[in-house]
Amino acid sequence: MANKIRIPIHLIIEHGAVSRLPKTPVYEWLKDKKVFLICGSNNTLNLAGMIRDTIRPQAREIHILSCESNTLDTINRLERKVLEDTPDYIFGIGGGKALDVSKVVGTRCNVPVVLFPTAASSDAICSPVAVIKMMHRSTSIGVRMPLAVVIDLDILASSPPRLAAAGIGDLLSNRTALFDWQLAHQAGIEEMNTFAALMAKNAVESFMNTVNRGDLDRSSLLKSAAESLIMSGIAMSVAGSSRPCSGSEHLISHALDFHCGAKALHGEQVAIGVLISQYLQSKRQEVELLRPYYEKLGLPTHYEDLGYTKEEMRRAIRLAPSMRNRYTILDEFSLTDKQIDAILEEVFPEEAKNRYRPIGSSAK
Ligand SMILES: [Zn+2]
Repeated sequence: MANKIRIPIHLIIEHGAVSRLPKTPVYEWLKDKKVFLICGSNNTLNLAGMIRDTIRPQAREIHILSCESNTLDTINRLERKVLEDTPDYIFGIGGGKALDVSKVVGTRCNVPVVLFPTAASSDAICSPVAVIKMMHRSTSIGVRMPLAVVIDLDILASSPPRLAAAGIGDLLSNRTALFDWQLAHQAGIEEMNTFAALMAKNAVESFMNTVNRGDLDRSSLLKSAAESLIMSGIAMSVAGSSRPCSGSEHLISHALDFHCGAKALHGEQVAIGVLISQYLQSKRQEVELLRPYYEKLGLPTHYEDLGYTKEEMRRAIRLAPSMRNRYTILDEFSLTDKQIDAILEEVFPEEAKNRYRPIGSSAK
Protein backbone atom coordinates (compact mmCIF):
# COMPACT_ATOMS: atom_id res chain seq x y z
CA MET A 1 0.00 0.00 0.00
CA ALA A 2 2.88 2.38 0.77
CA ASN A 3 4.19 2.28 -2.80
CA LYS A 4 5.41 5.72 -3.77
CA ILE A 5 4.74 6.78 -7.33
CA ARG A 6 6.96 9.55 -8.59
CA ILE A 7 5.82 11.75 -11.43
CA PRO A 8 7.25 15.07 -12.64
CA ILE A 9 5.83 18.06 -10.74
CA HIS A 10 5.95 20.19 -13.86
CA LEU A 11 5.61 19.37 -17.48
CA ILE A 12 6.20 22.22 -19.90
CA ILE A 13 5.66 21.48 -23.60
CA GLU A 14 5.40 24.62 -25.70
CA HIS A 15 6.98 26.71 -28.42
CA GLY A 16 9.81 28.85 -27.06
CA ALA A 17 9.78 26.96 -23.74
CA VAL A 18 13.45 27.80 -23.03
CA SER A 19 13.10 31.56 -23.51
CA ARG A 20 9.84 31.49 -21.54
CA LEU A 21 11.46 29.61 -18.65
CA PRO A 22 11.52 32.72 -16.35
CA LYS A 23 7.71 32.67 -16.45
CA THR A 24 7.51 29.12 -15.07
CA PRO A 25 7.67 27.63 -11.56
CA VAL A 26 10.92 25.85 -12.52
CA TYR A 27 12.58 29.28 -12.62
CA GLU A 28 11.26 30.08 -9.13
CA TRP A 29 12.98 26.98 -7.78
CA LEU A 30 16.35 28.31 -8.91
CA LYS A 31 16.49 31.41 -6.71
CA ASP A 32 20.01 31.54 -5.21
CA LYS A 33 20.54 27.89 -6.09
CA LYS A 34 23.45 26.07 -7.63
CA VAL A 35 22.66 24.30 -10.93
CA PHE A 36 24.73 21.85 -12.96
CA LEU A 37 23.82 21.56 -16.62
CA ILE A 38 24.77 18.18 -18.09
CA CYS A 39 24.71 18.22 -21.88
CA GLY A 40 26.11 16.47 -24.95
CA SER A 41 28.26 18.12 -27.61
CA ASN A 42 27.76 20.78 -30.33
CA ASN A 43 24.06 21.63 -30.57
CA THR A 44 23.16 20.59 -27.06
CA LEU A 45 26.18 22.51 -25.76
CA ASN A 46 24.77 25.60 -27.50
CA LEU A 47 21.40 24.97 -25.92
CA ALA A 48 23.04 24.57 -22.50
CA GLY A 49 24.62 28.00 -23.07
CA MET A 50 21.19 29.44 -23.88
CA ILE A 51 19.68 27.92 -20.74
CA ARG A 52 22.59 29.20 -18.64
CA ASP A 53 22.04 32.74 -19.97
CA THR A 54 18.30 32.46 -19.32
CA ILE A 55 18.63 31.35 -15.69
CA ARG A 56 21.69 33.48 -14.83
CA PRO A 57 19.69 36.32 -13.19
CA GLN A 58 18.02 33.83 -10.84
CA ALA A 59 20.56 31.13 -9.96
CA ARG A 60 23.58 31.68 -7.69
CA GLU A 61 25.97 29.41 -9.53
CA ILE A 62 25.75 27.56 -12.85
CA HIS A 63 28.22 25.02 -14.26
CA ILE A 64 28.07 23.28 -17.62
CA LEU A 65 29.38 19.69 -17.68
CA SER A 66 29.62 17.87 -20.96
CA CYS A 67 29.00 14.17 -21.28
CA GLU A 68 30.40 12.56 -24.38
CA SER A 69 28.90 9.12 -23.73
CA ASN A 70 26.69 7.09 -21.41
CA THR A 71 29.49 4.83 -20.19
CA LEU A 72 30.08 4.01 -16.55
CA ASP A 73 33.37 5.96 -16.72
CA THR A 74 31.57 9.13 -17.78
CA ILE A 75 28.91 8.61 -15.09
CA ASN A 76 31.57 8.07 -12.39
CA ARG A 77 33.47 11.19 -13.52
CA LEU A 78 30.34 13.35 -13.37
CA GLU A 79 29.24 11.78 -10.10
CA ARG A 80 32.57 12.74 -8.52
CA LYS A 81 32.11 16.35 -9.65
CA VAL A 82 28.58 16.44 -8.27
CA LEU A 83 29.65 14.93 -4.92
CA GLU A 84 32.62 17.33 -4.59
CA ASP A 85 30.47 20.38 -5.13
CA THR A 86 26.85 19.29 -4.78
CA PRO A 87 24.33 21.39 -6.75
CA ASP A 88 20.68 21.94 -5.80
CA TYR A 89 19.52 20.84 -9.25
CA ILE A 90 20.84 18.98 -12.26
CA PHE A 91 19.52 19.94 -15.68
CA GLY A 92 19.87 17.16 -18.26
CA ILE A 93 20.01 18.69 -21.75
CA GLY A 94 20.12 16.73 -25.00
CA GLY A 95 18.99 13.55 -26.69
CA GLY A 96 18.90 10.15 -25.01
CA LYS A 97 22.43 9.85 -23.61
CA ALA A 98 22.70 13.17 -21.75
CA LEU A 99 19.22 12.61 -20.30
CA ASP A 100 20.04 9.08 -19.15
CA VAL A 101 23.38 10.14 -17.64
CA SER A 102 21.70 13.05 -15.81
CA LYS A 103 19.04 10.73 -14.39
CA VAL A 104 21.65 8.23 -13.17
CA VAL A 105 23.91 10.89 -11.61
CA GLY A 106 20.91 12.65 -10.02
CA THR A 107 19.64 9.38 -8.54
CA ARG A 108 23.05 8.29 -7.23
CA CYS A 109 23.83 11.70 -5.72
CA ASN A 110 20.28 12.40 -4.55
CA VAL A 111 19.96 15.63 -6.54
CA PRO A 112 16.64 16.47 -8.31
CA VAL A 113 16.81 16.46 -12.10
CA VAL A 114 15.04 18.62 -14.67
CA LEU A 115 15.16 17.29 -18.23
CA PHE A 116 15.32 19.37 -21.42
CA PRO A 117 14.99 16.83 -24.25
CA THR A 118 16.14 18.07 -27.66
CA ALA A 119 14.48 15.19 -29.49
CA ALA A 120 11.64 12.80 -28.69
CA SER A 121 13.69 9.77 -29.70
CA SER A 122 12.61 7.40 -26.91
CA ASP A 123 10.67 7.29 -23.66
CA ALA A 124 13.91 8.27 -21.88
CA ILE A 125 12.56 11.84 -21.96
CA CYS A 126 10.58 11.05 -18.82
CA SER A 127 10.99 7.53 -17.50
CA PRO A 128 12.24 5.76 -14.37
CA VAL A 129 14.73 3.83 -16.53
CA ALA A 130 18.13 4.83 -17.97
CA VAL A 131 20.28 3.04 -20.50
CA ILE A 132 23.99 3.03 -19.71
CA LYS A 133 26.95 1.33 -21.31
CA MET A 134 28.80 -1.24 -19.19
CA MET A 135 31.50 -3.52 -20.58
CA HIS A 136 30.68 -2.20 -24.10
CA ARG A 137 27.07 -3.29 -23.73
CA SER A 138 23.90 -1.30 -23.09
CA THR A 139 22.06 -2.07 -19.87
CA SER A 140 18.84 -0.59 -18.47
CA ILE A 141 18.85 0.48 -14.85
CA GLY A 142 16.14 1.93 -12.61
CA VAL A 143 16.45 5.63 -11.77
CA ARG A 144 14.36 8.28 -10.06
CA MET A 145 11.85 10.13 -12.25
CA PRO A 146 12.76 13.71 -13.25
CA LEU A 147 11.29 16.48 -11.11
CA ALA A 148 10.24 18.38 -14.24
CA VAL A 149 10.44 18.07 -18.01
CA VAL A 150 10.77 21.10 -20.28
CA ILE A 151 10.24 20.52 -23.98
CA ASP A 152 10.73 23.41 -26.37
CA LEU A 153 8.71 22.51 -29.48
CA ASP A 154 10.89 24.76 -31.65
CA ILE A 155 13.96 22.75 -30.62
CA LEU A 156 12.09 19.49 -31.15
CA ALA A 157 11.08 20.63 -34.65
CA SER A 158 14.75 21.08 -35.59
CA SER A 159 15.70 17.57 -34.42
CA PRO A 160 16.67 15.03 -37.11
CA PRO A 161 13.66 13.16 -38.56
CA ARG A 162 15.41 9.88 -37.76
CA LEU A 163 15.27 10.61 -34.02
CA ALA A 164 11.58 11.48 -34.16
CA ALA A 165 10.85 8.26 -36.07
CA ALA A 166 12.75 6.28 -33.43
CA GLY A 167 10.65 7.86 -30.67
CA ILE A 168 7.46 6.85 -32.46
CA GLY A 169 8.82 3.30 -32.84
CA ASP A 170 9.44 3.19 -29.08
CA LEU A 171 5.90 4.42 -28.46
CA LEU A 172 4.19 1.87 -30.73
CA SER A 173 5.71 -0.87 -28.58
CA ASN A 174 3.11 -0.15 -25.88
CA ARG A 175 0.54 -2.21 -27.79
CA THR A 176 2.60 -5.38 -28.08
CA ALA A 177 4.08 -4.90 -24.60
CA LEU A 178 0.61 -4.68 -23.06
CA PHE A 179 -0.43 -7.85 -24.88
CA ASP A 180 2.63 -9.62 -23.43
CA TRP A 181 1.91 -8.29 -19.95
CA GLN A 182 -1.66 -9.61 -20.17
CA LEU A 183 -0.26 -12.94 -21.31
CA ALA A 184 2.06 -13.14 -18.29
CA HIS A 185 -0.86 -12.20 -16.06
CA GLN A 186 -3.11 -14.91 -17.55
CA ALA A 187 -0.33 -17.45 -17.12
CA GLY A 188 -0.28 -16.55 -13.40
CA ILE A 189 3.32 -15.31 -13.64
CA GLU A 190 2.86 -11.63 -13.01
CA GLU A 191 0.49 -9.14 -11.44
CA MET A 192 -0.91 -6.57 -13.82
CA ASN A 193 -1.32 -2.96 -12.75
CA THR A 194 -4.53 -1.94 -14.49
CA PHE A 195 -3.93 1.78 -14.03
CA ALA A 196 -0.44 1.63 -15.53
CA ALA A 197 -1.75 -0.51 -18.40
CA LEU A 198 -4.54 1.98 -19.08
CA MET A 199 -2.09 4.88 -19.17
CA ALA A 200 0.27 3.09 -21.56
CA LYS A 201 -2.67 2.11 -23.80
CA ASN A 202 -4.11 5.62 -23.85
CA ALA A 203 -0.66 7.06 -24.59
CA VAL A 204 -0.29 5.11 -27.82
CA GLU A 205 -3.96 5.37 -28.81
CA SER A 206 -4.08 9.14 -28.38
CA PHE A 207 -0.98 9.40 -30.59
CA MET A 208 -2.63 7.20 -33.25
CA ASN A 209 -5.75 9.41 -33.09
CA THR A 210 -3.53 12.40 -33.82
CA VAL A 211 -1.94 10.55 -36.74
CA ASN A 212 -5.40 9.76 -38.13
CA ARG A 213 -6.40 13.41 -38.09
CA GLY A 214 -6.60 14.84 -41.58
CA ASP A 215 -4.84 18.15 -40.92
CA LEU A 216 -1.70 16.69 -39.38
CA ASP A 217 1.45 18.86 -39.42
CA ARG A 218 4.93 17.94 -38.18
CA SER A 219 4.73 20.17 -35.13
CA SER A 220 1.46 18.57 -33.90
CA LEU A 221 2.86 15.12 -34.61
CA LEU A 222 6.02 15.79 -32.59
CA LYS A 223 4.05 17.32 -29.74
CA SER A 224 1.69 14.36 -29.61
CA ALA A 225 4.60 11.88 -29.74
CA ALA A 226 6.42 13.70 -26.92
CA GLU A 227 3.28 13.82 -24.76
CA SER A 228 2.59 10.11 -25.34
CA LEU A 229 6.21 9.16 -24.57
CA ILE A 230 5.93 11.10 -21.31
CA MET A 231 2.68 9.33 -20.44
CA SER A 232 4.41 6.02 -21.18
CA GLY A 233 7.23 6.97 -18.79
CA ILE A 234 4.69 7.78 -16.09
CA ALA A 235 2.92 4.45 -16.74
CA MET A 236 6.26 2.74 -16.05
CA SER A 237 6.64 4.72 -12.85
CA VAL A 238 3.14 3.65 -11.75
CA ALA A 239 3.87 0.01 -12.63
CA GLY A 240 7.26 0.13 -10.91
CA SER A 241 8.84 -1.47 -13.98
CA SER A 242 9.09 -0.98 -17.74
CA ARG A 243 6.43 -3.70 -18.27
CA PRO A 244 3.68 -1.44 -19.73
CA CYS A 245 5.98 -0.29 -22.52
CA SER A 246 8.47 -3.10 -23.00
CA GLY A 247 7.68 -6.64 -24.08
CA SER A 248 8.82 -9.10 -26.75
CA GLU A 249 9.52 -6.29 -29.27
CA HIS A 250 12.04 -4.79 -26.83
CA LEU A 251 13.60 -8.20 -26.16
CA ILE A 252 14.22 -8.53 -29.91
CA SER A 253 15.82 -5.07 -29.96
CA HIS A 254 17.97 -5.94 -26.92
CA ALA A 255 19.10 -9.13 -28.68
CA LEU A 256 20.02 -7.08 -31.77
CA ASP A 257 22.10 -4.84 -29.49
CA PHE A 258 23.80 -7.66 -27.59
CA HIS A 259 24.28 -10.24 -30.30
CA CYS A 260 24.14 -8.47 -33.66
CA GLY A 261 26.19 -5.29 -33.28
CA ALA A 262 23.62 -2.65 -32.24
CA LYS A 263 23.52 -1.17 -35.74
CA ALA A 264 20.48 1.07 -35.42
CA LEU A 265 18.70 3.36 -32.95
CA HIS A 266 16.72 1.80 -30.10
CA GLY A 267 13.34 2.93 -31.42
CA GLU A 268 14.12 1.85 -34.98
CA GLN A 269 14.89 -1.67 -33.80
CA VAL A 270 11.84 -1.70 -31.55
CA ALA A 271 9.68 -0.73 -34.57
CA ILE A 272 10.98 -3.82 -36.41
CA GLY A 273 10.36 -5.87 -33.24
CA VAL A 274 6.77 -4.57 -33.06
CA LEU A 275 6.00 -6.04 -36.51
CA ILE A 276 7.35 -9.46 -35.47
CA SER A 277 5.55 -9.40 -32.11
CA GLN A 278 2.26 -8.32 -33.70
CA TYR A 279 2.53 -11.25 -36.07
CA LEU A 280 3.21 -13.73 -33.27
CA GLN A 281 0.38 -12.29 -31.19
CA SER A 282 -2.01 -13.62 -33.85
CA LYS A 283 -2.43 -10.25 -35.39
CA ARG A 284 -1.18 -10.98 -38.87
CA GLN A 285 -3.70 -8.54 -40.32
CA GLU A 286 -2.45 -5.90 -37.87
CA VAL A 287 0.96 -6.09 -39.53
CA GLU A 288 -0.70 -5.30 -42.86
CA LEU A 289 -2.57 -2.42 -41.24
CA LEU A 290 0.54 -1.07 -39.56
CA ARG A 291 2.70 -0.95 -42.68
CA PRO A 292 1.04 2.15 -44.21
CA TYR A 293 1.44 3.92 -40.86
CA TYR A 294 5.11 3.03 -40.82
CA GLU A 295 5.46 4.62 -44.26
CA LYS A 296 3.54 7.71 -43.23
CA LEU A 297 5.52 8.13 -40.00
CA GLY A 298 8.90 7.45 -41.60
CA LEU A 299 9.53 4.17 -39.72
CA PRO A 300 11.63 1.31 -41.10
CA THR A 301 9.59 -1.44 -42.78
CA HIS A 302 12.46 -3.87 -43.33
CA TYR A 303 15.34 -4.97 -41.10
CA GLU A 304 17.80 -4.80 -44.00
CA ASP A 305 17.27 -1.04 -44.14
CA LEU A 306 18.77 -0.92 -40.62
CA GLY A 307 21.77 -2.98 -41.73
CA TYR A 308 20.74 -6.37 -40.34
CA THR A 309 20.88 -9.64 -42.28
CA LYS A 310 18.33 -12.43 -42.17
CA GLU A 311 20.79 -14.56 -40.19
CA GLU A 312 21.15 -11.79 -37.58
CA MET A 313 17.38 -11.40 -37.29
CA ARG A 314 17.03 -15.14 -36.86
CA ARG A 315 19.64 -15.07 -34.09
CA ALA A 316 17.96 -12.09 -32.40
CA ILE A 317 14.53 -13.76 -32.38
CA ARG A 318 16.01 -17.01 -31.08
CA LEU A 319 17.97 -15.29 -28.30
CA ALA A 320 15.40 -12.60 -27.41
CA PRO A 321 13.74 -14.59 -24.57
CA SER A 322 17.13 -15.00 -22.86
CA MET A 323 17.66 -11.23 -22.70
CA ARG A 324 15.74 -10.86 -19.46
CA ASN A 325 13.39 -12.80 -17.25
CA ARG A 326 10.17 -11.46 -18.74
CA TYR A 327 7.34 -13.69 -19.98
CA THR A 328 6.18 -12.70 -23.48
CA ILE A 329 4.63 -14.17 -26.59
CA LEU A 330 8.08 -15.51 -27.49
CA ASP A 331 7.80 -17.99 -24.60
CA GLU A 332 4.66 -19.48 -26.12
CA PHE A 333 6.55 -20.77 -29.15
CA SER A 334 9.63 -22.83 -29.67
CA LEU A 335 10.38 -21.73 -33.18
CA THR A 336 12.72 -23.62 -35.49
CA ASP A 337 15.01 -21.66 -37.81
CA LYS A 338 12.78 -22.70 -40.69
CA GLN A 339 9.70 -21.27 -38.96
CA ILE A 340 11.53 -18.07 -38.11
CA ASP A 341 12.57 -17.70 -41.75
CA ALA A 342 8.97 -18.15 -42.86
CA ILE A 343 7.83 -15.46 -40.40
CA LEU A 344 10.55 -13.08 -41.55
CA GLU A 345 9.56 -13.59 -45.16
CA GLU A 346 5.94 -12.87 -44.41
CA VAL A 347 6.47 -9.89 -42.11
CA PHE A 348 9.22 -8.36 -44.24
CA PRO A 349 8.40 -8.93 -47.93
CA GLU A 350 10.77 -7.81 -50.70
CA GLU A 351 8.67 -4.75 -51.48
CA ALA A 352 9.14 -3.46 -47.89
CA LYS A 353 12.86 -3.04 -48.58
CA ASN A 354 14.72 0.15 -49.53
CA ARG A 355 11.97 2.43 -48.31
CA TYR A 356 13.65 3.78 -45.20
CA ARG A 357 16.11 6.61 -45.42
CA PRO A 358 17.49 7.49 -42.00
CA ILE A 359 18.07 11.23 -42.09
CA GLY A 360 20.39 12.74 -39.52
CA SER A 361 22.08 11.29 -36.45
CA SER A 362 23.97 8.02 -36.29
CA ALA A 363 23.12 4.95 -34.28
CA LYS A 364 26.28 5.21 -32.20
ZN1 LIG B 1 12.18 1.52 -25.35
